[in-house]
This record gives sequence, structure tokens and C-alpha cells, in this order.
Amino acid sequence: MHYSSVKNHLKPYAILARRKTTINHAFAAAIAPSDEYSAATVRETIATLGQDPENLRCAYCDEPAQTWDHVFATVKNSNFSGHGHRLGNLLPCCKQCNSSKGNKDWRVFLVQLGAPEKLERTRRIESYLSKYSGIDSLPNDSLEYRKFIKIKSDVLQLLAEADQLAKIIRENKKLPVITPKDPL
Ligand SMILES: [Zn+2]
Repeated sequence: MHYSSVKNHLKPYAILARRKTTINHAFAAAIAPSDEYSAATVRETIATLGQDPENLRCAYCDEPAQTWDHVFATVKNSNFSGHGHRLGNLLPCCKQCNSSKGNKDWRVFLVQLGAPEKLERTRRIESYLSKYSGIDSLPNDSLEYRKFIKIKSDVLQLLAEADQLAKIIRENKKLPVITPKDPL
């Protein structure tokens, strides 16, 4: 690690800026449909990757897998993309690749990575993705969906307000103390 990386910490922390992506992701993930777990189906799907299901490797770089990458991200333009938590859409992956791939197209990522045995790797991933049931329909404009989106927008708005208060609290070391006579 280089000493200059401490620079990221030596500045005021912004709640909204640092957490907005996580919140958008959580709201999208919450309405994304998911497959039911079945050991037999998982093993069968993993077989198309040519991998040992007991000892999974990262499908992109071959390091030991630590997580599952949503090949097609659940979020697009801050909302649910239509891609769910479906077996063929979840690829064994190392944390490094999962984080650097982000929302990139998996083929573009493989090229950028300089992945080993690229042709064979591409063929196996394609074969794995052929097990993916594909994009789900987007939520219809129901009352529930509108309320759901309103809650997300309220949460983000509240975080923006908290950031403004945090700035005042940081910068005013002598804020008036609230006494019982002077309630909120
Ligand atoms: Zn990897």
C-alpha cells in the first residue's frame, strides 16, 4: 500500500455519496426474482463450466472463487435491470474480479483482464450462460412499486439531510446544548 492512499480518509465523509450505489443496489436486489436452490441443478450447471463443484475457481482468472458474480447486473440506471438472482447468471468469481468487472460486459472484461486460455474460457462461460433463463419482466407500474420507489427516494433524501447536519456538527464545535426546556 502506498502512503498517499490515506488521502481518501483525510476529508469529510459524505454519507449519501458513499452509500447511494449500495442503496440502489439493495432496492434492486430486493425485487429481483431468484431461483430456488437445488444441489442437483447447481452441480449440473457448474458442470458446463468444466469445474469441480467442490472446489470452484474464478471463471474469469482461475484463482480460487470467493463469491458469485451476477454476470448481468441486477441494477441499470439506478433501478432493477430485469436480471435476477438466477443460477446461470451467477458465476463463481474471486473478489478481485468481481470488484473490477463491475457492470462491464463479461467479454470486454475477459479481454481487459488478459485472462488465461481466453477462447476455451469464453466457450465455457457461454455454455454456462446458456443455462440462464434470461431477463425477467420489469415491475409493472403498480401502487406497491410506486410506494417502493418513493421509499428509496425518501431514504436518499434523508441521507442528504443527514450530510448537511453532519457538516454543521463538524464545523460548529459549540452547538447549543438542548435542555429539557428546549426540546426538539
Ligand atoms: Zn478472478
